[in-house]
Amino acid sequence: MPKEQKKLAKEIIKNSLYMKAKGLTPGHSGNISARVPNDNEVETLSFLITPTGMPYEDLKPKDIVLVTHNETTGETSWDEKGLAPSSEWQFHLSAYQANSAVNALVHTHSNFATTIACANLEIPPFHYMVAAAGGKIIPLVPYAIFGSKKLSDGVAKAFKNYKACLMAHHGLLTGEKNLAKAMELTEIVEDLAKQFWALKQLGEPALLSDRQMNDVIKKFQTYGQQKGQENN
Ligand SMILES: [Zn+2]
Repeated sequence: MPKEQKKLAKEIIKNSLYMKAKGLTPGHSGNISARVPNDNEVETLSFLITPTGMPYEDLKPKDIVLVTHNETTGETSWDEKGLAPSSEWQFHLSAYQANSAVNALVHTHSNFATTIACANLEIPPFHYMVAAAGGKIIPLVPYAIFGSKKLSDGVAKAFKNYKACLMAHHGLLTGEKNLAKAMELTEIVEDLAKQFWALKQLGEPALLSDRQMNDVIKKFQTYGQQKGQENN
């Protein structure tokens, strides 16, 4: 395994263990991937992803699966001698194809994001931090069975405009320019989902207007999301 890839694989394991320790996803659910930079001329998109059905505690860098998609032939492959990638690799591929700014993805069945997704709700702009996902809402992708093209297509549509989406009756997917930021966004969205759930107990939440959210989005772009979070 090339040095760069081994480094990414180690980061994936570190983040998987963190996700588990923080209780962000139950059992073997959830998965994490990172885009492998492509320096050659061939039209391929490659990413490293956690394998299917293996406890996060037992993962070694060699267990992280390199998935390669050939954009010309439309074929996707991995080393058949090694472990199989997460059964949800297809929506990771779709998110990378849809959004070139996304280099890392975290998928969880975290409690509150999943609760909202199971109520078939998107997260509306009840708090300015909703803009951390790239827009005025955190969208909901319609239900389709895991591993299906229909689910991947829904994710692709969401990731054209957002860095996070809920998947109805399933869970949460977040993407960012690196793994640390993707994990941070997962925690932000999970907290927003928890707050939204709590607000729903009080009645219909009050929402920020389009103009107010546009101002937040503009400010995030100017000052950076990190600063917005720390200072406000
Ligand atoms: Zn899942």
